[in-house]
Amino acid sequence: MNPTPFAEAYQELNHRFIKLVNDLSALRGLSRLSMRRTSQDELLRDAMRVLMENSDFERCSVFLLEDDALVCAGGLDWPDLLNSDAVGERRPKQFQLGEGIIGMAAETGNLQHCRDSSHEPRFLQVPQGGHIGSLICVPVLFADKVIGVVNVSHQRNDAFNEAHERLLTVFASFLGQILSNWRYYHEMEGQIQRRTQELEAALAEAEELKRRYQHLSIVDELTGIHNRRFFFPEAHAALASAVRHRQTFSIMMVDLDHFKQINDLYGHGMGDKVLQITAALLKGQTREGDIIARFGGEEFVMALPHTDLDGARQLADRVLVSLRSLAFNASGKTLRVTTSIGISGLTGLESPDRPDLLESLLRQADQALYFSKAHGRDQSRAFADIDFRLS
Ligand code: GH3
Ligand code: MG
Ligand code: MG
Repeated sequence: MNPTPFAEAYQELNHRFIKLVNDLSALRGLSRLSMRRTSQDELLRDAMRVLMENSDFERCSVFLLEDDALVCAGGLDWPDLLNSDAVGERRPKQFQLGEGIIGMAAETGNLQHCRDSSHEPRFLQVPQGGHIGSLICVPVLFADKVIGVVNVSHQRNDAFNEAHERLLTVFASFLGQILSNWRYYHEMEGQIQRRTQELEAALAEAEELKRRYQHLSIVDELTGIHNRRFFFPEAHAALASAVRHRQTFSIMMVDLDHFKQINDLYGHGMGDKVLQITAALLKGQTREGDIIARFGGEEFVMALPHTDLDGARQLADRVLVSLRSLAFNASGKTLRVTTSIGISGLTGLESPDRPDLLESLLRQADQALYFSKAHGRDQSRAFADIDFRLS
């Protein structure tokens, strides 16, 4: 019995077995590609490397569909992927849908197998492309839509058979899935990044708004100095600290004289201007640590830590003088403004447990202010100096 046919059959079987193992290795390699890859090019390069390492293809490339054109997304050992016809630069070759065998694979969605390119009318000769004998172009599909084409070739004619076609069909289908996953993954990552940035921006805006509203809520809109909402907690804290440490502390109430007349004679706008200038003047007279606020209409209040009655009297005099010396131009006439001031202060005997101490000092300053008004305005009085029997 002639053993040759058996040996040949065995060899053929062995050859097929090795090819099958290689094919499986290629698919296994493909399934192991990481989605985390930074670029799609990198993903495709690795996919092609896996295919080439486990097959007898000479060249391999992937073209992706972009606006009805197949654009080379990467190739291994295929110099004709680069078209040198562009002057001064080498740019990747592109094929239109239906153009050449690759274009046909994309247009029809079916694998195209060219066994001998020199006798194949569908084959599009690429200048300086190098010789290609056999070529298989397999569409890469996702959700029944062609997204690209995988091409493999060999210089020899009839280099490929049905087994190659089967492997490439499965490979292209895997690749379609992987590419789509990669795109979803990165699109999602991009979306998450964009959403995160949007949220961060919205958060920063909200913080800024919060800061602005917090600021607005404690600042008097007309004069720009603080309002009562700011004054009370700040003055309470400063007073509590002064009482605890047996330090001096004074309160000063400032009320413009006959302010209503200014509004009546020169209009509200002029009245507003006087209020703004008075506020700026008072602020300019205070020092760091003093708490100044617009208390109401044309009334201002100052809490003066580390200031005894004498210090407060001196400050009041400075305010009276500087306001007196101001000359406002009101409809061509010179308008002069005066103010009355009431002062109160700690005696040093206060109990730290008095919760109404600030309110009491404010009342005293208000009484002193009323006294100044009653005794001719444009002057200051300290509560402690008033002999109420004379009033
Ligand atoms: P006195 O010397 O006794 O303090 O008299 P006065 O006219 O200053 O006091 P009065 O309380 O009679 O009038 C205060 C006026 O201040 C009445 C009110 O219309 C005016 N006023 C309150 N707030 C504002 C404001 O924001 N702008 C302007 N232009 N006027 C204001
Ligand atoms: Mg007034
Ligand atoms: Mg008033």
